[in-house]
Amino acid sequence: MKILTGISAGAGVVIGKALVVQENRPEIPRYAIDPGETPAELARFVTAAREAAEELRTLKKNSAGLGWEQGAILDAHLMMVEDPDFHYQIKARLESKYDNIEWMVFEVARDLSHKLVQSPDAYLRERAVDVADVSRRIINRLLGITPFSLADLREDVILAAHNLSLSDALTMNRERVKALVMDTGSRISHTAIIIRAFGIPSVLGLSTAVREITSGDTLIVDGEQGQVILDPDKATLRCFKEKLANRKRGFGEFVPPRDSPAETTDGRRVSLKANIGVPGEAESVHHYGAEGIGLYRSEFLFLQDGHGSEEQQYRAYSRVVKAMAGKPVTIRTIDIGGDKVMPGMRVPEENPLLGWRAVRFSLTLPEFFKTQLRAILRSSAEGPVRIMFPMISGVEELEEALTILEEAKEECRGKGQAFSADIEAGTMIEIPGAVMTADILAEKSAFFSIGTNDLIQYSLAVDRGNEKVSYLAQPSHPAVPRFIKRTIDAAHKRGIPAALCGELAGDPAAAALLLGLGLDEFSMTAAAIPQVKRVIRGTDYESCRVLAEQVLAASSCREVQALVSGWNAERFPGLEPSSLYAGMDRPRAGNGGSHGI
Ligand code: PEP
Ligand code: MG
Repeated sequence: MKILTGISAGAGVVIGKALVVQENRPEIPRYAIDPGETPAELARFVTAAREAAEELRTLKKNSAGLGWEQGAILDAHLMMVEDPDFHYQIKARLESKYDNIEWMVFEVARDLSHKLVQSPDAYLRERAVDVADVSRRIINRLLGITPFSLADLREDVILAAHNLSLSDALTMNRERVKALVMDTGSRISHTAIIIRAFGIPSVLGLSTAVREITSGDTLIVDGEQGQVILDPDKATLRCFKEKLANRKRGFGEFVPPRDSPAETTDGRRVSLKANIGVPGEAESVHHYGAEGIGLYRSEFLFLQDGHGSEEQQYRAYSRVVKAMAGKPVTIRTIDIGGDKVMPGMRVPEENPLLGWRAVRFSLTLPEFFKTQLRAILRSSAEGPVRIMFPMISGVEELEEALTILEEAKEECRGKGQAFSADIEAGTMIEIPGAVMTADILAEKSAFFSIGTNDLIQYSLAVDRGNEKVSYLAQPSHPAVPRFIKRTIDAAHKRGIPAALCGELAGDPAAAALLLGLGLDEFSMTAAAIPQVKRVIRGTDYESCRVLAEQVLAASSCREVQALVSGWNAERFPGLEPSSLYAGMDRPRAGNGGSHGI
């Protein structure tokens, strides 16, 4: 028996068998070759392309019942694998650059994808994804990888991965994944967020899980303690089985009525909304009493299958709007880049989190951006929709985005497509530069939504997916409440509402502080709404304001934590100390997380 310690990112205890997932999209190696090796490299490519073509033909034969759309995609892929021009471009690139063939295939496909994505022709733009799929198929062949789709899981498993990609998390068979353990990641990494939204227990940041666990091993995943027990002995197994059988009803199970308002005892009313990543989630948020969607992460549509034509996007957005039946829906424009890599749009960057991400991506590709904006605008004809721009760093970006929005409106008008004339556009505040200019941004924004996941990452210089420094990603750092307060004050001065849609909003232990800071709207994983509402309904605004004042005057994480947990303990004795406000201990190499050294 061995105990591995990591970060608890999704609560729950599970006993089961491990399935170790090898990465389907590993890094593509790049190295120089000798000019004399060119013919051999080219021969490798020809063989890989031939094998990929055979694979596609087999897939086509076996997918006869899947409908013409699938068949047409496979035909298009087949044409490309065998396209003489594609082969010629790879040969020419190889003979001029002398890098290994995998890299040459990647580069040619990337350049082609970029050209296509900027095309004004919608059909050509969609082909960018096909180019990426085809090149990946060839590269996998060259690297000797046989990808396995997690969508095909047929047995219950505990997934053990080095770094499960968001695409895999979105497409896996959720019914069969009972828990996730991962070497990388933190509580606010995107994989953690989506896994939590699916209600799957997880322990992340384990550093060596994939090295230590073998498929078929028995595991106990304790998502509450952040522990994974590998090959548990009989006594431990018995103890956990008893624990599972005798689980007590916790604080979270005593919830206020679904339709009761989120109002404090002295009459301060706020709004509680849901964060969603896939349209289907909108259908279940009513169950938790969501008053709308405060954050629809539209990029998940692209991450799932890489497709995002205007019609596909419109269908997804309007499904959400219809499911919300008149309640407001905030659609965030694509936030791709950083740790969210769209199939085929992988652009190697030294610092992806500081690089070509979110609105920066959209502004560089105005046609692509306008396609999304038109799809959102069209969905606004079916119910109340708001648009939100992610990662705005300053007013120029906001102005540019608003100008492109006006162009998209003009195009809709030109085509006779209906949309809501008074659709609102708001700004996500997740970069310190945006906080410090919030007064200026407020003049051009209909609302603010504070993205604390990124605001913490960027203000405290902590990569949100890096387990080695995740102990520093502290919402209790005194800078964080100060940033939040400054943003809310700037919004209120201008008469616009301030929302918060980072993971902090769904933390019942943080609710009183956020209320006291003046927040108007909390947007979170839907399942967290009842517990946050319970805190709000059980407290008075005045005491929250006093708490906020004390926190704003505090000088250390520990002081902020003591204030917040003291306040909660006095009023809500059963309330678990927040997982976000915890784990401040720096992991040591060789102790629990081994840092892989
Ligand atoms: C955030 O940064 O807090 C946020 C809500 O956006 P995301 O987690 O998708 O980056
Ligand atoms: Mg963000």
